[in-house]
Amino acid sequence: MSDKTHPAVRHMDQLINSAATPELTDELSADPMLVKLHEQLTEIREFIIAFAKGNPVEDIKTKGHLAGCVKTLQANLRHLTWQVRQIEQGDFTQRSAFLGDFSESFNCMAEQLETTVGELRKKEEELTELNESLRREIGLRTTAMRALQASEARFKFLAGHDSLTGVYNRRSFSEEAVRVMHTFLDKGRSCCVAMLDVDNFKDFNDSYGHLAGDAALQHVVRTVRSVLRRSDLLGRYGGEEFMFCFGGAGYKQGMELAERIRSAIADNALEWEEQSLNVTASLGVCHIPPPSAANVADFDSFFELVIKEADKNMYTAKQNGRNRVMGSSFATGQSL
Ligand code: GH3
Ligand code: MG
Ligand code: MG
Repeated sequence: MSDKTHPAVRHMDQLINSAATPELTDELSADPMLVKLHEQLTEIREFIIAFAKGNPVEDIKTKGHLAGCVKTLQANLRHLTWQVRQIEQGDFTQRSAFLGDFSESFNCMAEQLETTVGELRKKEEELTELNESLRREIGLRTTAMRALQASEARFKFLAGHDSLTGVYNRRSFSEEAVRVMHTFLDKGRSCCVAMLDVDNFKDFNDSYGHLAGDAALQHVVRTVRSVLRRSDLLGRYGGEEFMFCFGGAGYKQGMELAERIRSAIADNALEWEEQSLNVTASLGVCHIPPPSAANVADFDSFFELVIKEADKNMYTAKQNGRNRVMGSSFATGQSL
């Protein structure tokens, strides 16, 4: 710049190019147009400096084309900030168009986020669906397994119980009775086994029919159960014959239990088609004192002998007039 350069031009040059904002001289302040220009450029200058330092939110009050452009830049940056916040909140449709390469990168990032999040959502839906179908599958399998367990339990029950009366069948009764006898005899306590045979049952069937006969057998079981102790065993030997095991019972107690069973049957008539039908039974008891089983090697065969003894006593009861109890102690074989 030469000495002839106008001071106003010098001032403008400093406003545009120097680091410090120049003061207006008194001479230049006399020109209102120059003062206005100085103020406008100073404000734009301060905004650009603040912007360069990372603060694009300085207010610009100056009007004019340059200030207008700066305000547009500011507004666009504000809009971009808002768009970034929208993306943060999950709106990946935001696109920018005013900043050339930067807008392209911004749009590219938004598109990629949109695609990635879309794929993640799809995968999540697929996983939820898979989870749901697995849950359904597990539900079906659990139901099937429960049904299988229930039918297995039912089969097991049927295999070990009599289908008409629900008591142990002969095989299960023998197994259970041998186990109970072992437990008590090993502890030095005695047991009793009893056989029961319904009296004149053939005549009963002939008189009232087999359905009434079936009902009578069920009735006998119900009646008998009501007088048994929790530890006593009851099984169906076959036909109209039942057997008992009174664990821990001595001879006297075994005979008393058998007598209670007999009298309960005799005292409780079966109500059948508006008739009261009397049923009686004969019982034979075999008492097993602990010493008699002390040296037994084959407990199953021993149990057969006990049953035979109880059966023999039951037949004696039949011969003596039915509806009665007879018993003996296995050790002596003594008929009582
Ligand atoms: P006793 O007093 O000497 O025992 O005479 P009883 O008539 O009871 O003996 P018997 O052995 O002559 O007859 C038994 C009858 O029991 C014959 C058979 O039809 C009947 N019976 C066996 N099992 C069943 C059953 O499950 N249901 C019915 N209704 N009857 C049965
Ligand atoms: Mg019989
Ligand atoms: Mg009979």
